[in-house]
Amino acid sequence: MTRPARARIDLQNLQHNFSCVRESAPASQVMAIIKANAYGHGLVRVAQALRAADALGVVGLKEAITLREAGCDQRIVLLEGLFSADDIALINGYHLDVVIHHRNQLELLEQGRLARPLDIWLKVDTGMHRLGFAPTDVDAVVERLMALPHAGTLRLMTHFASADEPDSTSTTEQIGRFAEVGRGMTAERTLANSAAILAWPDSHADWVRPGIMLYGGSPFTGRDAQSLGLKPVMTLRSELIAVNAHRKGDAIGYGGSWTCSKDMNIGVAAIGYGDGYPRHAPSGTPVLVNGQRAQLAGRVSMDMICIDLGEQPAAVVGDEVILWGGGLPVDEVAALAGTLSYELLCGVSARVCYDYC
Ligand SMILES: *Cc1c(COP(=O)(O)O)cnc(C)c1O
Repeated sequence: MTRPARARIDLQNLQHNFSCVRESAPASQVMAIIKANAYGHGLVRVAQALRAADALGVVGLKEAITLREAGCDQRIVLLEGLFSADDIALINGYHLDVVIHHRNQLELLEQGRLARPLDIWLKVDTGMHRLGFAPTDVDAVVERLMALPHAGTLRLMTHFASADEPDSTSTTEQIGRFAEVGRGMTAERTLANSAAILAWPDSHADWVRPGIMLYGGSPFTGRDAQSLGLKPVMTLRSELIAVNAHRKGDAIGYGGSWTCSKDMNIGVAAIGYGDGYPRHAPSGTPVLVNGQRAQLAGRVSMDMICIDLGEQPAAVVGDEVILWGGGLPVDEVAALAGTLSYELLCGVSARVCYDYC
């Protein structure tokens, strides 16, 4: 029998979340962000379910090529652009768009042999201070890009540092700085990630770039995805592979960090940090056993977790255990484990099997 740790991906809920993007930003085109294996949901299946998207955003050239070879004919944008001169032929050959965020990339394009028009998204650093050209450099960079032998369409892009904080002034400042960039250019513009799509309508511009909201995660701490109208796409599940009776005072698992408060059953589910379940999830983190809440007991192991079945004495081997997804928001588990839904979703490991529905 195959190991029962599986991820169920609900493509209808994905499409529902995509329609939430359309409703939130009705005047904008949508670049669906499907980097990191579509945030752990499966690159090609997600792309195929998002044929309605106007473009797809990935980071790796390998991901972009996989999409093309799977028959995906949408605009595909490489969000970190090219990494070496060798990439140019592939970018041309597979008809990909690139983000250009650094002088080095500009030089690679100038020295390389562009064979076909290349559409470029010029990334501007308006305050995040990670990637992008300084606003004062943009005019000179644009001039050099337009002088390339095969300059295609040029678009302008920036990324927010704190769009998830509605009270922060930095987003308004970034929007203001971006408006000053390339004045007089008619280029299309893009600023908004999921948080900005939901919280900063002034940032929608020509293109929006949703990631986490497509997968049903909330971009805001303390605001659940359901209240934003989003539906969970991934349900990570496994099964009880053991149910053992223990006595009051028995210490459970590595380090014996958790002890039974009474005589009770402890369930063991076949899922652990080797599958991407967070090792830092503390005792008390909720799981669903047969749809009912139960709690993690003791430390997460590589292949297993232990579950307090004190309130569920009827649970038996083979019963379903849900780690997150339908009925148990991934954001809730992430918060308890000291991380974000982003990290949990894209951290599901290769040994977990996927089912699509
Ligand atoms: C990952 C990414 C996004 C999506 O961000 P979410 O917070 O997941 O919506 C948007 N734009 C760029 C450039 C990204 O790298």
